[in-house]
Amino acid sequence: MKKQFDIIAGPCSAESPEQVMECAVSLAAQGIGTLRAGVWKPRTRPNSFEGAGLPALEWLKAAKQATGMKLAVEVASAAHVQAALEADIDILWIGSRTTTSPFAVQEIADSLKGTGVPVMIKNPINPDVDLWTGAIERLQQAGIENIRAIHRGFSSTQENLLRYAPQWEIPIELRRRMPSLPILCDPSHMAGRREYVGAIAQMALDMNADGLFIEVHPNPEQAKSDSLQQFTPSQFQQVISSLRRHRDIEESDSRKLAPMRSELDELDSQLVEILARRMEIVKRIGAYKHLNNLAILQPQRYQSVSDSVASEAATKGMDEKFIRSVFETIHAESVRCQIENENNNLK
Ligand code: PEP
Ligand code: MN
Repeated sequence: MKKQFDIIAGPCSAESPEQVMECAVSLAAQGIGTLRAGVWKPRTRPNSFEGAGLPALEWLKAAKQATGMKLAVEVASAAHVQAALEADIDILWIGSRTTTSPFAVQEIADSLKGTGVPVMIKNPINPDVDLWTGAIERLQQAGIENIRAIHRGFSSTQENLLRYAPQWEIPIELRRRMPSLPILCDPSHMAGRREYVGAIAQMALDMNADGLFIEVHPNPEQAKSDSLQQFTPSQFQQVISSLRRHRDIEESDSRKLAPMRSELDELDSQLVEILARRMEIVKRIGAYKHLNNLAILQPQRYQSVSDSVASEAATKGMDEKFIRSVFETIHAESVRCQIENENNNLK
């Protein structure tokens, strides 16, 4: 079993003293140690429920006294930080819309200096790993040591079954950049519908997430925000107990994987060698186009390369879309190189 796996759960919004208490009591009974609840809600459209504000902090305090749970709330400004800390909130989180704004994140970071309070940072709404990294760095520079990231998915223009596209490559890249930063997954906002939340939570475990951040409401149908994606406490219990947990990798696993990994390393180095050779030819072609006054981009040629590698990939049981996207990247780099050479020729 993974050593550290934290599950934080609670309603999208704190709506009433009774709703907060009922939710906290049922989650505490399931061994959940931290209650999440939105007190100030960033809504896409005005005149939606924008959170209960300061009174909700009192309801949360009462739930903490009754259950001993820690409390986590979303903050979007220095004023929120101040109010939350005065109410003894244990953990703060920065929501997706806020992470998108360096000004707002800096204001929050400045207000947190010297507090030592743990902070969780959701990914920005747009799939920009630099923006996410930058928000984390702003908090680190304010001296906050206990920082976790929350992956909640990204806005996309494409039709998607899910509310927000997971784009797993983004948290994977964040992990590469900051290997010791824990990354939790919020499958509720990603899914947008409760029937998909369990499958995404499992995917997060398979991707080695360090925990889950899940919305649970005593009566989701009546919820004032995100009613379609929240679990009842019993649905939550069912899903959590059916998740397949993984154990930490051990020395003996690494030993057994080593020969396969070195085979991969050998192939990867051949791939790089082949790409370098390919790029040399691309440059020769670029020189010919330049001398003979031909356009760099030749769309029919690109189409025929893409079609032929895709059909060859299909005969080898590979996904055509994958191969097309690999060659899209290779082709884009070839065009970039030819443009660069063209510009050098013009100097
Ligand atoms: C939330 O967790 O309630 C929330 C508003 O999430 P996000 O910032 O991911 O939209
Ligand atoms: Mn929500």
